[in-house]
Amino acid sequence: MDSNNHYDAIVVGAGPAGLTAGIYLSRARLKTLIINEGTVGGQLILTHEIANYPGVESISGYQLANIMKKQATSFGCEIRSNINIRDLGLTNELKTITLSDGNIYTADSVILTPGGRSRTLGVTGEDNFKGRGISYCATCDGDFFTNKEIVVVGGGNSALEEAVSLTKYASKVTIVHQFDHFQAFEHAVQDARVNTRIKFIMDSTITSFHGNENLEYVDIRNLKTGRVSRFKTDGVFIFIGYIPNTEFLKGRIDLNKWGEIVVKSDMSTNIEGVFAAGDSITKRFRQVTTAVGDGTVAALAASNYLHELKIKQKQLITA
Ligand SMILES: Cc1cc2nc3c(=O)[nH]c(=O)nc-3n(C[C@H](O)[C@H](O)[C@H](O)COP(=O)(O)OP(=O)(O)OC[C@H]3O[C@@H](n4cnc5c(N)ncnc54)[C@H](O)[C@@H]3O)c2cc1C
Repeated sequence: MDSNNHYDAIVVGAGPAGLTAGIYLSRARLKTLIINEGTVGGQLILTHEIANYPGVESISGYQLANIMKKQATSFGCEIRSNINIRDLGLTNELKTITLSDGNIYTADSVILTPGGRSRTLGVTGEDNFKGRGISYCATCDGDFFTNKEIVVVGGGNSALEEAVSLTKYASKVTIVHQFDHFQAFEHAVQDARVNTRIKFIMDSTITSFHGNENLEYVDIRNLKTGRVSRFKTDGVFIFIGYIPNTEFLKGRIDLNKWGEIVVKSDMSTNIEGVFAAGDSITKRFRQVTTAVGDGTVAALAASNYLHELKIKQKQLITA
């Protein structure tokens, strides 16, 4: 075992859950490495404004991510970002992670925080018009639709909140939702309903996307009547949920049927020494605050595990 590449804890993912775990672990003087596939911050960096993070009235997701990163590294936490995991061994007491650059890291404990990504509609034309009229991120692409007429698909908090935020740019936003009611919080529904730029097409779904160079229109089917109508639009934003980024964990750890990591209340998984936190675990509400809370619990439980492991290892040496 190369002691330079050995850590008390390795955290997989540098979103709010992983960065929080990094802050707690390194502040507890545990040698900690965060390995992150993308840019540090995870979904935070896709978020234009966070106004529901207690203690901070309003902040961009990018700024909040950078503060969390600075906090973690100030306590000695190391971060390797924009790198892929090639292989991981979780079942033995000594955990092993091999990266795409060939580096092999070992750790006594692992915290998995890979988060999630947007779900797609999976209908004809969606792949063709991604980035040419179809978007999954209002913050990233909203500005491209200034004074245009757009559609937002979905009925949860993300859909309604982003529909309202898109009215800063678009002249008209039509929300297409498959049910006759929304799943979002009441205040989000009210904000959308009182916005004069927002219209609603309920009980309906987009069945195909059409255009030439760019998206020009969509076919919308009314799910009650079956009637399909053609709807002219400059762009479509899709907010219909998420998929946990847990494909790389399939067969290695207990996942539920949706691919979420199964955890106990202390964020421990079915494998000793392996914990999980954030949007990738089994839970109902996915927010920065809940990710941060999970990250805290996972880090404290991992610290406890490491403490007991060290006592056990000492006893074995002296026996
Ligand atoms: C558009 C948008 C707006 C939002 N607005 C808000 C809001 O206003 N308020 C709020 O509270 N929440 C908001 N959220 C939700 C919030 O961003 C998430 O709940 C939160 O970021 C989840 O944190 P996480 O750390 O679990 O996962 P993520 O933020 O998804 O981070 C996971 C990280 O893990 C990395 N990763 C994935 N797989 C691997 C792998 N195999 N190996 C290594 N690294 C990997 C990813 O690259 C990523 O950096 C919003 C989300 C979106 C998409």
